Amino acid sequence: MPKQRLVVIGNGMAGGKFVEELLARNGGELFDIVVFGEEPYGNYNRILLSSVVAGSRELKDIFLNSVEWYHERGVRLHSGVRVEAIDRSRQVVIAGNGVEEHYDRLVFATGSKPFVPPIEGLGLDGVFVFRTIDDSLRIMDYTKHARKAVVLGGGLLGLEAASGLLNRGLEVHVVELMPHPMAVQLDAPAGRVLQSTLEGMGIRFHLGKSIVKAVGNAAIEAVTLNDGTMESCDMLVISAGIRPNVEIARQAGLTVERAIVVGDDLVCVDDPSICAIGECAQHRGQTYGLVAPGSEQAGVLADRLSEANPQALYKGSHTSTMLKVMGVDLVVLGRKDAADDKDAVLMYTDAQRGIYKKIILRESRLAGAILLGDVATAPRLLRAFRKQEAIRETPAELLFPHKSTEQSDIDAAPEVFEENLKEVVAVIRPERWLRTREKVESLGIFAYSQHRVVGRGRQRGLHFLARRGARSGQGFRYLPKRMASWIVPESQVDKLVEAIIEANRTGQIGDGKIFVLPVSESMKVGEEPSRQLEVTCV
Ligand SMILES: Cc1cc2nc3c(=O)[nH]c(=O)nc-3n(C[C@H](O)[C@H](O)[C@H](O)COP(=O)(O)OP(=O)(O)OC[C@H]3O[C@@H](n4cnc5c(N)ncnc54)[C@H](O)[C@@H]3O)c2cc1C
Repeated sequence: MPKQRLVVIGNGMAGGKFVEELLARNGGELFDIVVFGEEPYGNYNRILLSSVVAGSRELKDIFLNSVEWYHERGVRLHSGVRVEAIDRSRQVVIAGNGVEEHYDRLVFATGSKPFVPPIEGLGLDGVFVFRTIDDSLRIMDYTKHARKAVVLGGGLLGLEAASGLLNRGLEVHVVELMPHPMAVQLDAPAGRVLQSTLEGMGIRFHLGKSIVKAVGNAAIEAVTLNDGTMESCDMLVISAGIRPNVEIARQAGLTVERAIVVGDDLVCVDDPSICAIGECAQHRGQTYGLVAPGSEQAGVLADRLSEANPQALYKGSHTSTMLKVMGVDLVVLGRKDAADDKDAVLMYTDAQRGIYKKIILRESRLAGAILLGDVATAPRLLRAFRKQEAIRETPAELLFPHKSTEQSDIDAAPEVFEENLKEVVAVIRPERWLRTREKVESLGIFAYSQHRVVGRGRQRGLHFLARRGARSGQGFRYLPKRMASWIVPESQVDKLVEAIIEANRTGQIGDGKIFVLPVSESMKVGEEPSRQLEVTCV
């Protein structure tokens, strides 16, 4: 039987996953597969862009399938080519470079684009959105010359962008219309705990506000907020939500509401040869802005088209979200609030320690959960949520981990601690922290405590002088630092210190200091209010 032609528009997370799943089911024997991807790369893990911007991951580490990968599997990839239109009467896809491809089956996986609110002056240099590799490269490049950034949007992406910029040594302000960050996923108390945790790290919030104007000559110099106040800045990152890429589908006469409308078979309601998956698809009235639903849809569509399971249906997804900000543990599942009084709600707050937990149960099944600051029960809750298992644990067991999972490394290896203990403390540049932690963990040393401190410096790239009474003269500015401490047996001190130095490349640790102390002695650190790093060593 001659092969049919299958064309996929969009080589992002859903499109890429679909091709993988289809090939895994021998779909290559049924179809000649053609993929168009507007981005000039193979397929990559978009969610890791946050870690790339934060400096904790290299760009090369986020690629999933290279251009060669497609070639080797007989898939024709038009990389860096945008599809401009489809002609449904001829069953042809028309690309920007003049290429036309016939299709028997067509899959839309065009994802979304960032939503940019109408703000005056956005044509200035230093204004960015955050969606693609190219956006991330532009942002990272610009931070080399910037000192202060404003992020518009305090949602998940905005906070990840803010944290990344902070790690790159910038002063960061987040402007958010809602009264607390991550308002879509978090209730007000959780939002306040998160806000105070992030403020403790150095992010400044302007809540209940929006930006009306970007001000500057060639490059941005400030933003004007809707209350008339101005905030100076060298760069603005807009992260104010997303809009599905549906123009081509709409122009082709497909039914589009918020996104391309599909049934449980993921087929467009008005054309049996066209399907849609990922963020550009609207299923049972719902669109998703997360990876997992797109992956589930990719699996179902691959089952159907490869005929591995032609009856497979997609029934919707139970979504969960994780904030990828260093030093903040946050997992959110399902709903943030009770729907009615049939829902049972369990809550625990320890704002001092940045902990907030809320669990919503409906007929013994998990309908939602917020775990902030302590996510020890997250794996169990995630499994129960995804499978919609009946919950048998008591409320206390749900809110607090079982003893065995709670045990620290110290409990687990008491014999190690018959030696004298030492505390090793280092002040580390934020962008070096993850590398340092990984290096130390490779020695089998896992337990640490860390918090952010603020130091003074002349300029980024030079080691700053941290000393009591340093003056904020011209050229000095406040730099975020991370102070980490490990408590280890004396015999491990040398290799731990070596690992810290190695991970920090220059041999200088933040302000160039590592302290090895008997555990009874302490360091006192002036935090943000004093705007000064004070180190008192006995
Ligand atoms: C920085 C960042 C962090 C994120 N973190 C998380 C997270 O922690 N968890 C989570 O679940 N989700 C996260 N997301 C969201 C997640 O990345 C998306 O939900 C996911 O990528 C959607 O997959 P998709 O294939 O539908 O869209 P995309 O991955 O955007 O892929 C669509 C692709 O189609 C291409 N395209 C569009 N139109 C055309 C055309 N006309 N012709 C050719 N190609 C076209 C686009 O260029 C793009 O490459 C994050 C997103 C970002 C940007």
